[in-house]
Amino acid sequence: PYTGPSADEILSKRKEYLSPSMFYFYTKPLNIVDGRMQYLFDDKGRRYLDAFGGIATVCCGHCHPDVVEAIVNQTKRLQHSTVLYLNHAIADFAEALANKLPGNLKVVFFTNSGTEANELAMMIARLYTGCHDIISLRNAYHGNAAATMGATAQSNWKFNVLQGDGENKFIKEDTQLWKNMICQVCLTRKYVHQSGVHHALNPDPYRGFFGSDGEKYAKDVQDLIQFGTSGNVAGFISEAIQGVGGIIELAPGYLPAVYSTIKKAGGLCIADEVQAGFARTGSHFWGFENHGVVPDIVTMAKGIGNGIPLGAVVTTPEIAEVLTRRSYFNTFGGNPVCTSGGLAVLKVIEKEKLQENAFVVGTHLKERLTALKNKYDLIGDVRGRGLMLGVELVTDQKFKTPAKLETIHVMDQMKELGVLVGKGGFYGNVFRITPPLCFTKEDADFLVDAMDYTMEKM
Ligand code: PMP
Repeated sequence: PYTGPSADEILSKRKEYLSPSMFYFYTKPLNIVDGRMQYLFDDKGRRYLDAFGGIATVCCGHCHPDVVEAIVNQTKRLQHSTVLYLNHAIADFAEALANKLPGNLKVVFFTNSGTEANELAMMIARLYTGCHDIISLRNAYHGNAAATMGATAQSNWKFNVLQGDGENKFIKEDTQLWKNMICQVCLTRKYVHQSGVHHALNPDPYRGFFGSDGEKYAKDVQDLIQFGTSGNVAGFISEAIQGVGGIIELAPGYLPAVYSTIKKAGGLCIADEVQAGFARTGSHFWGFENHGVVPDIVTMAKGIGNGIPLGAVVTTPEIAEVLTRRSYFNTFGGNPVCTSGGLAVLKVIEKEKLQENAFVVGTHLKERLTALKNKYDLIGDVRGRGLMLGVELVTDQKFKTPAKLETIHVMDQMKELGVLVGKGGFYGNVFRITPPLCFTKEDADFLVDAMDYTMEKM
């Protein structure tokens, strides 16, 4: 049994010693002390079905024995920087990763996070093309460093120099989570995010202007290039399914049309696979494959290391060449311990047929959630692919008014029933269901039953 500090003790230490920007889920946050595959355990030994951690950390399951073994063995043998000396772990994982990618995407740069991967990808695109302008999508999340905060397109994740910018609309009505995250940081830190990014209309089939007509949204990118730039751009960055943005699947036909427009303008296409990659969408290993496109640069993180800090940028040898113009390195990106873990992850996905599982269980889960949508007016939309699903709550179907408080309530109640789901979307009214890929049909049924039970009681 757990004998460490209580939730209250941890909270008071956090208050004194940790950044005020740190946030947590739930009105009463959970003190999670153990993890095993799709389950998490709190300090009282209570078990929770984790339907969100698949994206935050694990793709194979918490503490997957094969991944743990690979990490522990390498840690016992050697942990060092990636640069300076040779070590087989980084080369082996780079080879295995490159083999999972289509076309000539064969050169890997490792980083420690998704933000770093996207920063690097954007820099490479700018260097390669000699242009500065980058096009990203409204409602996107690509990171929170200088360039990536520019590409991120939700005001609640973008800092400004002005005091009072903390007057974010979430603060008045939402929980501690948003209060901590937005208000205090905005008031205590001052920051200007880099510009040079144009944010195109989001091809959002549920809330977007043009519904599911991908070609119409793609026209907006053409307009942006024509009117907002010299006619040439460095690149375009997007996810295949927006994660933080609330599991938004890009309208069909959008990516192929935009990729062709960007290429004509001399730009590179960057696929941010931080959330949608690594077999999560079930039908394909990479999210972009669902759209029939091949990017020039692919970025990844999160699931790549099943919870250890690791990210990567993969591109073609020709494009990778730009980084030889100066010295470029990352002390720990791709260190032996993390890359040993990464290689183990790829083996587990294959050995345990996790992509097939994401497809089968995800299809079943989506069907059951769709049936729930037909039962409750509170559910405005059910969407996503494989084990990357979203459930959007609205107070009325016609105007699609975000049901923010109801979302918090249902999430809290589901936690009491032992099920953890995530929350996202610009209005904070979308459940993000992104479990470890070992999630079973029984787990899916339990999740839907818990949601059904909660909504019925409202
Ligand atoms: N891209 C996407 C699509 C993300 O969801 C995130 C993190 N939420 C990032 C990039 C940034 O990753 P990290 O937090 O590891 O820097």
